[in-house]
Amino acid sequence: PAAGEVILEVNRARKEFGGLVAVNDMQFNVKAGEIMGLIGPNGAGKSTMFNLVTGVLPVTRGEIKFRSDGQLQRIDALASRQIVRCGIGRTFQHVRLLPSMSVLENVALGAHLRGQFGDVAGVAASFLRLNQKEEQALLFDARRQLERVGLGELMYEEAGSLALGQQRILEIARALCCDPSLLLLDEPAAGLRYQEKLALAELLRKLKAEGMSVLLVEHDMDFVMNLTDRLVVMEFGTKIAEGLPLEVQQHPAVLEAYLGG
Ligand code: ADP
Ligand code: MG
Repeated sequence: PAAGEVILEVNRARKEFGGLVAVNDMQFNVKAGEIMGLIGPNGAGKSTMFNLVTGVLPVTRGEIKFRSDGQLQRIDALASRQIVRCGIGRTFQHVRLLPSMSVLENVALGAHLRGQFGDVAGVAASFLRLNQKEEQALLFDARRQLERVGLGELMYEEAGSLALGQQRILEIARALCCDPSLLLLDEPAAGLRYQEKLALAELLRKLKAEGMSVLLVEHDMDFVMNLTDRLVVMEFGTKIAEGLPLEVQQHPAVLEAYLGG
């Protein structure tokens, strides 16, 4: 998609869990080539919003549209495998990897799974059923993405031996294997050391320069302020502010939500 075109449109998306409204008629979009931040206090509904966009959870109501084949198309009724195929990749809030397998195998498994890294044991078993040609294609793509994110040198290390910052970047490589045009990253900088955050920010800037669109959930405000083009703020499932990072930071409702009131 051309830079500036809407790539993701969330239109009054709602998610209820029993009586709890986790996502309350959320409305926002992401434009091609931008890094959009999604912030808000714990429990605001950010991860649930990701699960709606990626088809992990069905919306209670509302629409989610994504640009694929040049057109905005509804994806809210699609299965997550289909959504990945449309071009949305994601990482999860908590690192999901097979620690005793290699970095390369972890990324190739993700490519095989097309983004669903839930039941890892089942996945490893299905990986073993691939024929040699399929396996070679997956490994080729995984190597390419590891080079792209700067982890080429660590390809044959055990994934569990990597520092947390490298594990998070491994997960980004895994999401890139599905060849997405939009990446959803759920708190990628959480728990990272300062230098690791710098490396992660540099990678995201590089991906953006390559035309990638990113929707980023993150708590570290310095990280968010330095990296994002626009921000959406959620509280109790509801959008309370939206705009340029510096504007949003000054917004009374945002100050209230963050400083407590
Ligand atoms: P955030 O990512 O912003 O911290 P979440 O999206 O994880 O927030 O959670 C939003 C609200 O929805 C919380 O109150 C949480 O307890 C609730 N919630 C999230 N997932 C589920 C679920 N699968 N079933 C029931 N409640 C859930
Ligand atoms: Mg969350």
